[in-house]
Order: sequence, then structure tokens, then C-alpha cells
Amino acid sequence: MTAYDDNNIFAKILRGELPCEKVYEDDHVLAFMDIMPRADGHVLVIPKAKARNILDIAPDDLKNLIAGAQKVAKAVKAGMKAEGLTIQQFSEQAGGQIVFHIHFHILPRWDGVALRPHTGAMAPADDLKTFAAQIRAAF
Ligand code: AMP
Repeated sequence: MTAYDDNNIFAKILRGELPCEKVYEDDHVLAFMDIMPRADGHVLVIPKAKARNILDIAPDDLKNLIAGAQKVAKAVKAGMKAEGLTIQQFSEQAGGQIVFHIHFHILPRWDGVALRPHTGAMAPADDLKTFAAQIRAAF
């Protein structure tokens, strides 16, 4: 298995070397807006622990990550007034993974509204700020 790369984009976000529109942080996880959202209010939840994907993450780190994802998912659903959620995790290139620091996608869903393409288009920064504020207010 390929080793964890400290220079991946999310490692840089965790170190504060790149910006993000943060919605939640605790000792174990960071959650921020996806810049190419598949749905309005699309949030990523990442562990502070280093792991490439589901194949190498330590079980205790995975427990903390999924607990964080559940907390964020509830706030995303409430803050976005969504009817449901889709949660995705991609592992390795063949599995659709692009950024090699494990993350869960939290996607708010509404009946009859299709997901946009994966990494399709950048969202306007103002939209991300608006949705992030709604989600932050829902914790
Ligand atoms: P994947 O590794 O396939 O789960 O996809 C990586 C996800 O990260 C995609 O949905 C991208 O839109 C998103 N993404 C990439 N770079 C950034 C960034 N700098 N800030 C927020 N989201 C990002």
C-alpha cells in the first residue's frame, strides 16, 4: 500500500497552510465546505490523524472520525433544511479517490434533486460562506 503523503491538500489545510471554510473542529476531526460541491451544503469531514483511506486508518481513529461525521451530518441536515443525506468515502484511485487523506463526504439531499458531478465545478465563495454559516448555526 502506498504510504501517506504529508503534502496532500488536506494535510496542508490541517497545518493551516491552505485555507478552508470551516464548519466544525474538535480534538479529532475537522469539517469544511467542499469547494466543488455535488450539492448545496456539501461538507467534508477529515481526521486530524494521518491516514490515506479506509484501508490504513487505525480503528480508534476511524471510530473518532465516524463519530465526528455523525455530529456534522446532523448539523448539515438541520442547517441546510435537507430531507436526507448521502455519505460517501472513496478509497484509492480506482475507487474514485482524488485527495489521499481519508474523508467522508456529507451530502444534503432533497427529493427530486440529483447530485452534481464529482469535482465538477467550483462554487462561488459567497455561496460556501452562506451555507457554512447555516451549518455552523445548527450545532
Ligand atoms: P475524493 O478524494 O474523490 O473524495 O475527492 C476529493 C474532494 O475534495 C472533492 O470533492 C473535491 O471537490 C474536494 N476538494 C479538493 N480540494 C479541496 C479544497 N482545497 N478545499 C475543499 N475541498 C476540496
